[in-house]
Order: sequence, then structure tokens, then C-alpha cells
Amino acid sequence: SKVGQRSKDRFARAQLVFPDGTSRVSIDRGPVPRYIERGTGSYVIDVDGNRFLDLNANFTTLIHGHAFGPVVEALSRQLHLGTCFANPTESEIALAELLCNRIPCVERVRFVNTGTEAVLFAIKAARAFTGRSKIAKLEGAYHGAYDWAEVSLAATPDTWGSPRAPRSTPFYRGMPASVLDEVIVMRFNDADAARRLLSLHGHHLAAVIIDPMPSRAGLIPPTPEFIAAVQETARMGGVLVIADEVLNLRQSFEGASARYGLVPDLITMGKIIGGGLPIGAIGGRQDVMEVFDGSAGPPLLPQGGTFSANPLSITAGLAAMRHLDHAALAHLEELGNVVRNGIAGAISKSVAPFCVSGAASLFRVHPMDQVPNDNREAYLGPHASKRMKQLVNFFADNGIILPYGAAASISTPMNRTDAIFVVEVFARFLHTHRASWK
Ligand code: PMP
Repeated sequence: SKVGQRSKDRFARAQLVFPDGTSRVSIDRGPVPRYIERGTGSYVIDVDGNRFLDLNANFTTLIHGHAFGPVVEALSRQLHLGTCFANPTESEIALAELLCNRIPCVERVRFVNTGTEAVLFAIKAARAFTGRSKIAKLEGAYHGAYDWAEVSLAATPDTWGSPRAPRSTPFYRGMPASVLDEVIVMRFNDADAARRLLSLHGHHLAAVIIDPMPSRAGLIPPTPEFIAAVQETARMGGVLVIADEVLNLRQSFEGASARYGLVPDLITMGKIIGGGLPIGAIGGRQDVMEVFDGSAGPPLLPQGGTFSANPLSITAGLAAMRHLDHAALAHLEELGNVVRNGIAGAISKSVAPFCVSGAASLFRVHPMDQVPNDNREAYLGPHASKRMKQLVNFFADNGIILPYGAAASISTPMNRTDAIFVVEVFARFLHTHRASWK
């Protein structure tokens, strides 16, 4: 975890121009962030010349790792052709076709620039379609920076409220009370509560937004009962189901909803579909997506964006998604299993206060005895968060970047040796630190 002098020098400069020396709260700063010089495949090299296996991959974006050949080629070609136009380009049709062909609920698509924007427009689309304004969401689930989606994100044990009806806690000082009033919060995998809350508030709800496997709520799969409860009560109340797959689209060829039996009306995408460039997309049922239709006068929901569907993001995304075929996904799934099973095996051998969750190419190590069942159980108290920091630092000392409090991801350039390396470092960590947990 020792950050080199060059990173320190850069951070000293950065502190004079950024409020806390960075441009995003999610930077692992601890206490000086590591400045990256370049990335190649699944590895990054920092400005001090240290090399790391990158399990963060820009928060699961880089499914083919850094500087992936086909993406570099597509971008180089496009750079010479121009980077953005006020007119459409053919490439956006190709990426939209790919998504419509692959993802069952996607009949029509709109491209935007980030996952935040995708969520924002999906919620607005649901409002425009239903004429209602409220939404329901899962406690502690992250969906980007749209105010309504941020409610309850900062939930801590003192603000949770009753387990049957979690409180709508504000995310930042000054968050409008009217926003809090318009968001119903439910706990992940609590099927009874989902039925009760969605029936109770049904006629006021435009949408319920569900990440099929929210990483902050523990990165655990949804139970079939929970999926059915959400699906059935939403349908009865005329509430649209939005699946936020900005992170979890990578779970299968058809996405995460398909993997877990959820049939959403709208889906939000981002991260992997931009090949490492900024992107977001809203997809869904044709009749719902018609709210964006401006062909016969102003649409119910006008959606623009100076950089929406810019050909750099689109061509990079197209190259990445074309290479994310069944074989690539099987490779990712296999390495994911090697890592998860290996880590679970090391834990059971040493009886350490750790556990591992995840699926496909995603995993998350929890500094607790048992895999949490929801966001409340996944919450880290002071002891657990100290153990987690020990783990992240140990990994960094041994050449692996492991995200803290977020999903770690496998990328296609990784091989079995890389996966086994992760397991070995984890086993060594348990061996080194086990005395401190007694
Ligand atoms: N939704 C989910 C599930 C996400 O994981 C994220 C980003 N981590 C977002 C939305 C927001 O995406 P972006 O950072 O591109 O705005």
C-alpha cells in the first residue's frame, strides 16, 4: 500500500486545485491516491513504476482490460474521422442493434453519457409513461447521482429505521424534503416487504428501480421470491420495473435480469457498453420508449445531450461488446469461480472472519463470518472496516488493486495464473494477519 514519491508529488499539486485533491469521491485515497501512468491488459502501472493486477478495472468498466487492441483500433480510426457531430452516425445503429438482439427486454434504445444519466432518464421515462412521480428503490443501492436515486444511499444503522419500512434518508445536506417524500425504500431480498410496500404505494409509483445484484448491498443474488414479489406487485399496480444493469449487465450474454428471471420494462446500461469511454443507455419496451419519440411533435420526454451517442464512445463500445461473446463470458465465469472458490476454501481452512460473494466475473470479499443477506448485514462496523482495509492494503503491497466496499471484477485478459495468484495472496493475507483477529 506504500504509495511512491511521484504520486505524493502529484497529490500535493492536486490539493491546490481540487477541493480534496481529487475529482471523484470514489478514489481510493488512503491517504495519498496512487497516480496511474498507463494500463495494459489486466494490469496498471503507476507513476512510480509499480505494477498491479487491476481488479477494480474502473469500477468494473474494463471487461477486456486496459488498451484492448480492438478498442484502440476502433478509436484510432474514429479519431481521424471526427469525434462528435450534431448528426447521427451509422455506428450508433450497430451498437443499438447489438443490444436489441442480445438483451430480451430491449426493443428500443437511447444512448446517453453515463450510468447516472441513464438512470435519470429511465426514471423520467417511467414518469412520462405513467403520469406518476414517485419511485421505489432498494435501501443503500447505488444508482448514480440523480437525487431520487440517491435517497437512502447514506443509510447507516442509526438512520435505517424499522426493517419493515426503511426510512428515506437524505444523501447530502440540503437534499429537498420533497425528494425524500417521493422515494419509497425497501430492503433487498425482503419479498414480504416488497409486496406490502409496492401494493400500498402502487398507484403513486412510476417505477421501482432494482439492481438485480446491488454491489453495495453485498453483491448477493436476488431470491426467486423477491424477484416474483417485485414483478407481480409492480404489474398489478401499473408500476414499471427498471432494472439498473449499469454494473451487472456483464453477468451473462443477455444481462443480469435474464440470469435471475426478472423481466423489466426498462433497463439502464453503462460501463462495459462504452469499451472504456463514457456511456449510458436506456433500453426497454417499445411502447414505453415511445415517450422519447419526437417524430410527430414534442416528445412526452425530451432527451438530448451534447455528447449522447458520440462516435468515440459508440465505436469503442461496439468493439468491446462484439468481443464479449459466449466464449469470453464462459472464460470470465470460469475464472470468477476459481477466485471465489479459492478464496472460500482459504477462509474455511483458517476459520477467518471473512466470506466471499458474487457471480460470473464479479466478486466481493466481506470482512465478516457469513455472507450478508442484505444491505444491513453487509454494513461494515468499525472492526470489520479495519479488517477490510488491512486486506486492501495487503493486496496492494502484493501487487493487486482490490476495491474497498465495491465489486471486484475479472477481465478477459486474465488467465488461470492470475486467478490463482489472487487466491494465493488472499491465503497469505489470512496467514499473516490471523493473530490479530483472535
Ligand atoms: N448504477 C449502477 C448500478 C452503478 O454501479 C453505477 C456506477 N457505479 C451507476 C448507476 C452510475 O454510473 P456512472 O458512474 O457512469 O454515472
